[in-house]
Amino acid sequence: MHDSTEPRADFHELLAEQLRRAPWLLISLAAHVLVGCFFWLLARLEPAAPPPAAPPAIIAGSPVEDRVEDAVPDELPREEQVSDEPQEEPVVASDDTEQEEESQQGDEGESASYESGSANFEGAGMGGGRSSRRGHGNGGSRSREGSGGRTTQAGVTEGLQWLARHQDEDGHWDADEFDRHCEGTRCTGAGGSLHDVGLTGLALLAFLGDGHHPNRVTPYRDTVRRGLRWLVEQTEEGGGDDGLIGGRKGKAFLYDHALAALALCDGFLLSGQENLREPAQRAVNFVLRARNPYKAWRYEAPPNGENDSSITGWMVFVLKTAQDAGLEIEKDALAGALQLFDELSDTATGRCGYLQRGETPARTDVNRERFPATNSESLTAVALLCRIFLGQRPEEHPLLEAHADLLSAKPPVWSEQGTTHDFYYWYYATFALFQMGGERWARWNEKLKIALLRNQRRDDHAKGSWDPLDPWGEDGGRIYSTAMAVLCLEVYYRYAPVLANERARPR
Ligand SMILES: [Zn+2]
Repeated sequence: MHDSTEPRADFHELLAEQLRRAPWLLISLAAHVLVGCFFWLLARLEPAAPPPAAPPAIIAGSPVEDRVEDAVPDELPREEQVSDEPQEEPVVASDDTEQEEESQQGDEGESASYESGSANFEGAGMGGGRSSRRGHGNGGSRSREGSGGRTTQAGVTEGLQWLARHQDEDGHWDADEFDRHCEGTRCTGAGGSLHDVGLTGLALLAFLGDGHHPNRVTPYRDTVRRGLRWLVEQTEEGGGDDGLIGGRKGKAFLYDHALAALALCDGFLLSGQENLREPAQRAVNFVLRARNPYKAWRYEAPPNGENDSSITGWMVFVLKTAQDAGLEIEKDALAGALQLFDELSDTATGRCGYLQRGETPARTDVNRERFPATNSESLTAVALLCRIFLGQRPEEHPLLEAHADLLSAKPPVWSEQGTTHDFYYWYYATFALFQMGGERWARWNEKLKIALLRNQRRDDHAKGSWDPLDPWGEDGGRIYSTAMAVLCLEVYYRYAPVLANERARPR
């Protein structure tokens, strides 16, 4: 300590005096200088970031930020280097966490991409876009006009938490044995054991739809990474089935393949991870080989000349997503699908049939009585959504309005017996009417929120899931119903509003 009467010493003298009295300070100072030098050297030695690769021409508004993230090695995501927190910690929908996540995303430079999300599939002259999902999702779009709002996003978050809790370590979702992860009261709702591949694809789509992918630091980055890797591991190598994901398990193996292929293409589209390009392309190639010449798809590969609107709808989205991601497709395939929808659509009623023109949706012998087909317009919804994404517009094709009227007349209603439920219908109709907009969408959206948000499970280990009470619940089980419901609630940001964007554009 200095005597107050002592003449005032200058800074260096004071420092020297302090150091004499406290040798540890000297050691500390030296250590700081050394560390400083080390980081300065490190900064000098670090190579300059590579310039971002040129974007594939037909990716809609893909922001540069995503591709810059390619430089981050998979194994060492930035957050994991500085934090011991497990990456799979579910998102907690508290205000604090939301702010933290959003500021973290801002640091990644992703939020800048959000407002620029507009339709641009010039390569095929089609409308669409999902760049809004690149920067947002995971709650980021909550404040967006027309979004589902906070309650809806909480529904998405809890649904994803349930899915993440029931994923196997190797990355897949087990259709009939997912309850091995249950603690306390076990979750019911086993699906068909043949559908692990399809359900893994569907669950991944729910995560991707909320903006979680391998090149973005989010709580589910690893969930998605492991799931995609598992799908790649299930892919057949060589021969006529090259690219088929999960082999020929059961009659409906093409459905499983379609959902898995869609997840691979979507994962590649969003993350830009080059190691997904080849497996995604091979999965797409199998889809193209399974198509009937000049037409569409059914259960057989190679095709046997039969076509149905249901599997064709999924294939359209595989090919559209692949196209957006810069993969190679045959545009004739999209034209063939459109031709099938035209053939199966009854202009008098506005209904698109399954195998025959204007017939009601398909039901199995088991579920026909319990879930009457007349309660659903699922295939009309498939046709409407595909038509919009394949470039048809209501101004030129009045059939789109007729399709939409039919859907409007059968909004989603949750009933105790479940007779009106059809998650498959609700999924396609939700996305189709969101695109159509207007009063029809406003009414549907209101009913959808009531049906889904009031009936999401709140209890025990099933919390966040939906009971698989619908015509396809026996096959898909709780993973199916939960993934589909989550996807419905992501409608506000999963795809850009194609028609609205076009109308807003100056002509
Ligand atoms: Zn459980």
